[in-house]
Amino acid sequence: MVSEKALGIDLGTTNSGMALIEGDDVQMLQNNEGEPLTPSVVSFDDDGDPVVGRRAENRAPANPDRTIRTIKRHIGTGDGVEIDGESYDPAEISAEILRKLKADAESYLGEEVTRAVVTVPAYFTADQKKATRRAAELAGFDEITLLNEPTAAAIAHGYDAGLDEETLVVYDFGGGTLDVSVLEIADDTFTILTTSGDNHLGGTDFDEAIVEHVADRIEGDRGIDVLAADELRANLRSLGESAKIDLSTAAETELIEPLLGQVDGEIVDVEETLTRDTFESITEDLRERALAPLEQALDDADRTTRDVDTVLLVGGSTRMPAIQERVADYTGVDPELTFEPDKIVAKGAALYAEKSGAVEEQYACTCGETFDAREAFQNHVDDAHGAADHAEKVEERGEITVKSIVTRSLGTRVKDGSFNVLIEKGTPITEATGTKYYTTTRDDQTIMAIDVFQGEHETARENEKLDEFTLTGIPEAPAGDPTIEVTFRIDDDGILHVTAEDIDGDAEGSLTVEQNVTGTSPDDGSDTAQVGS
Ligand code: AMP
Repeated sequence: MVSEKALGIDLGTTNSGMALIEGDDVQMLQNNEGEPLTPSVVSFDDDGDPVVGRRAENRAPANPDRTIRTIKRHIGTGDGVEIDGESYDPAEISAEILRKLKADAESYLGEEVTRAVVTVPAYFTADQKKATRRAAELAGFDEITLLNEPTAAAIAHGYDAGLDEETLVVYDFGGGTLDVSVLEIADDTFTILTTSGDNHLGGTDFDEAIVEHVADRIEGDRGIDVLAADELRANLRSLGESAKIDLSTAAETELIEPLLGQVDGEIVDVEETLTRDTFESITEDLRERALAPLEQALDDADRTTRDVDTVLLVGGSTRMPAIQERVADYTGVDPELTFEPDKIVAKGAALYAEKSGAVEEQYACTCGETFDAREAFQNHVDDAHGAADHAEKVEERGEITVKSIVTRSLGTRVKDGSFNVLIEKGTPITEATGTKYYTTTRDDQTIMAIDVFQGEHETARENEKLDEFTLTGIPEAPAGDPTIEVTFRIDDDGILHVTAEDIDGDAEGSLTVEQNVTGTSPDDGSDTAQVGS
């Protein structure tokens, strides 16, 4: 039997999780090993068969060359993964993880599951999203919706806190990346205003700061350069990470390891005390960097900290008190810690599956009972009423809509210096295209400058200039004669394409503004056709 239910899947870099709506509750689903999270690790056994999750993790020490981790970093990038001389597409490896989750969910439910909402980082390009979708198809899902991770977190938050009108910042600081999204929630619509981030800043940088600090001390005391040896460095890094995690709750911690490794036949041990104060002083620059994407995201969204109602902290690195303080100081809002930062995304995906219309219908009998499946509804009518007079009431459940919009108007400068808008602020990005016609202002004018501005001021120069280009080769003619067609179009990746063309002549030119001019790309919920609706 095929289940009516859709799985919410957080396909993570290190761990993956799945959630399901059960009754009125959203719950993490345990895998066959009885754990709510499945390591995103794949290996191949001697017969070449895939082994996934905890079992792959357990086999890893004996099979380092046949164990694949953090495949999410490579999906959709064109990189392949080499195992035993055979090259695998990262989408195929991710498909193995999804296949296991699907199988485990099916053994729990006793039914086949064919629908999934799979989350992806907001910064994923169209290629990365496409590859993720392909992985889900390979795994056997046939109705797949991709949802941005921060949106999923916001939905889970909205569900817990009760949906309200608010401007929400999702600050997601993980092991290797920082992502900040600004969303607006109103009338059950989640509008992604902007996302910004740093793909090279994460918890591992804080571990590394401890590593450098302790290595300096060892070098100073004993003249040993522990960083020169890979093994020592790796061991010190895991000591550093544990110390960092301790310091999120303790004022002081010990780094103790009697056998860090050997250098020139000499055993190197570590015995260091690290206080939170010291840790915070050696990581001050990292915290400063961790603020930049927040400033950028608000700025891009045309919002100030005064507009922010809620800050949602997601990701392991937001457990650091100094990060929480820094974000609170900057925004003036006490951030909300999510209690289960590693589960909120899967739960949000399951909620989206249920509430967005991915599970479309509910069957309500006139007696008041409701059913997810038509079959159950019909059985009920037959058994309880045995009559046709209990007319069927079918309810749509599309309670949540997710969309991305153009956050600042886009246009060009005309002769008197005013700003001429081609794409209005607030336009859903699936409809973001605009064409206008211009002409020359001087006789025999053969070139025309096309300036691209972004903002709301009626004087072009008061807005942000994104780029410019010059259309050349306009045939000589009296002022006002030529007709120049200018089109602004935003593609699926949020990139602005500007074209200009003399419609009576041959002159044409174009420009691509690489800067992302929207909240995000439009793949959120595209299967449910709600983007921009
Ligand atoms: P994530 O990618 O969200 O799972 O986050 C992983 C990162 O969070 C790693 O760098 C962890 O070291 C870090 N992390 C997890 N728990 C804590 C904690 N209590 N305090 C500080 N960092 C933590």
